[in-house]
Amino acid sequence: MSDDPKLDAIEGNLLAKSHIVRERNRKLVQKKKKSVLQKTGRLVCEACGFDFAEKYGKRGEGVIECHHTKPLRDLKPRSTTRLSDLVLLCSNCHSMIHAKQPWLEVKEIVRLIKLAKRGGRARKNAPKRRKG
Ligand SMILES: [Zn+2]
Ligand SMILES: [Zn+2]
Repeated sequence: MSDDPKLDAIEGNLLAKSHIVRERNRKLVQKKKKSVLQKTGRLVCEACGFDFAEKYGKRGEGVIECHHTKPLRDLKPRSTTRLSDLVLLCSNCHSMIHAKQPWLEVKEIVRLIKLAKRGGRARKNAPKRRKG
């Protein structure tokens, strides 16, 4: 990182762009989906277990997003993406990962989901709503 926040922002944007380009590599995404389907018979979010086909029926079959896990900062410009660099995520988990800088790792979002399930978000302090 440089001392100049502007430069960091530019670099951040470039990284984000090249991340998305990698994730939009259709051939690779198809390959990833195919290999997971062959192994497990379904496409589920690797963070939360969401299954588009289960939720939406036929329309959801084959629908899932691909996320590139390698920090692009560490990748050389011409390095190739391997299937093992990709994880399958539902749209929500994928958005959560990219919602803020720094991006979360998949294991971090898994942890967040667990925490939230356990009531990590203090619901008991929320004011009670009155009807009407
Ligand atoms: Zn998910
Ligand atoms: Zn992503």
